[in-house]
Amino acid sequence: MSGFLPVDSLDSPRFVGLPTFMRLPLAQPGDALDVAIIGVPCDSGSPYRTGSRLGPNAVRQMSVMLRPISPYRDHISVFETLRVADAGDANVVPGYLMESLEKIEESLSSLVDLGIIPLAIGGDHSIALPAIRSVARKHGPVSLVHFDSHADTWNSYFGGKEHSAGTPFRRGVEERLIDPATSIQIGMRGSLFRADDVSQSLDLGYDVVTTDETLALGPEKLAERIAARVGDNPVYITYDLDFVDPAFAPGVGTPEAGGPTSREALAILRAMKPMNIVGCDVVETNPTFDGPGQITALLGATVALELLTLIAAGRSA
Ligand code: MN
Ligand code: MN
Repeated sequence: MSGFLPVDSLDSPRFVGLPTFMRLPLAQPGDALDVAIIGVPCDSGSPYRTGSRLGPNAVRQMSVMLRPISPYRDHISVFETLRVADAGDANVVPGYLMESLEKIEESLSSLVDLGIIPLAIGGDHSIALPAIRSVARKHGPVSLVHFDSHADTWNSYFGGKEHSAGTPFRRGVEERLIDPATSIQIGMRGSLFRADDVSQSLDLGYDVVTTDETLALGPEKLAERIAARVGDNPVYITYDLDFVDPAFAPGVGTPEAGGPTSREALAILRAMKPMNIVGCDVVETNPTFDGPGQITALLGATVALELLTLIAAGRSA
């Protein structure tokens, strides 16, 4: 029994109390945690529309809908398997991306250095770079499992190398934080800036699975391909919600038509095999553009729970 259990919504209604992620306890200094939820309310890297600074709290708010047992993985009880708490938010300096990334890395490192797996809730995708810096410093280069409609491996945006959410997975390879030979990018689709937008990831050494290939493969075969690619290496999973079709996830920074449904996207996560996850994130939730019923925030919260469940499945195996 972990001792870090969410408030039971059969006992107290969901709208009561502090809106931590899934009504989990707020982390206290010295807590021996397996995983910490940490909000990263930075949208200073958004190349188009801002608002994902409000993403962490939007995800927390809708996460009260979730329940702690997974029928998709032998009814595992996630919070009896893992000690999880909500560690609040990393600090940021709005409009100042470099300063924000430094503060984010500091916050994440304070968890990682204690042996805690961070589950970061963004924020735009630029926050993945400081998160991966913090885990790679402890574990060495990671295998990246990256869900996104965009590869985010452009060399620069607006003349700067760290000036957007479109560059972290090139910087991560250049800084030797990511081992591209054991990494995989899933979901790329849509129109391109340049003809080599797709080959730029392959040239860096990534395996790339487009949205069309993703849907043609189906969840089981894709899960096998991911597992074979990452092996036993330390893994960082990064999940940009624009992987999902904007009909199901309209509240994102850079929507891309023609993606998987939320059902198809969740089926992939539920088919994934346990792996050596050392960090993960769910990014780009932008409540400013979310649809009625906060459907993107609900999906973001659900993806985060599936990631927790995947980590728990690895611990209980
Ligand atoms: Mn992205
Ligand atoms: Mn994207």
